[in-house]
Amino acid sequence: MQDKDAVRRRLLDRKGELLVRAGEVHADITRASGPLDKDFAEQVVQMENDAVLAGLSESTSAELAQINKALRRLDDGSYGQCVICGQDIDERRLAALPHSDRCIRCAEFASR
Ligand SMILES: [Zn+2]
Repeated sequence: MQDKDAVRRRLLDRKGELLVRAGEVHADITRASGPLDKDFAEQVVQMENDAVLAGLSESTSAELAQINKALRRLDDGSYGQCVICGQDIDERRLAALPHSDRCIRCAEFASR
C-alpha cells in the first residue's frame, strides 16, 4: 500500500491543475466579453456559465469527479480496492493513475 498522504497530495495537486485550467477558460471568456450594460450583463453571466461548462472538456470533468471520489475513498479506507471485484488494485496501476477505482482486469472488461 502506498503512503496515503503522498497519494492525497498527488490527487490534490492534480485537482488544483484541473481547476486552474478551468479558471483560465473562465478568465479568457470574461476578458473577451468586454464592457456591457446591466441587463445584458446578466444574460452574459448565464452564457459565461454555459461556456465554462463547454470549455471544460468531458475528460477534464470526468477526471475531476474521479479525483473527488478517490479522495473520499482515501478517507473511508477503501482506496486501492477495486470497486467492482473488491481486490487490491495493482500498485503500478495506482502509481500511474492514482484516481483509478478498478483493477486492470475490471477496467479492461468495462472498456470492451
Ligand atoms: Zn476488479
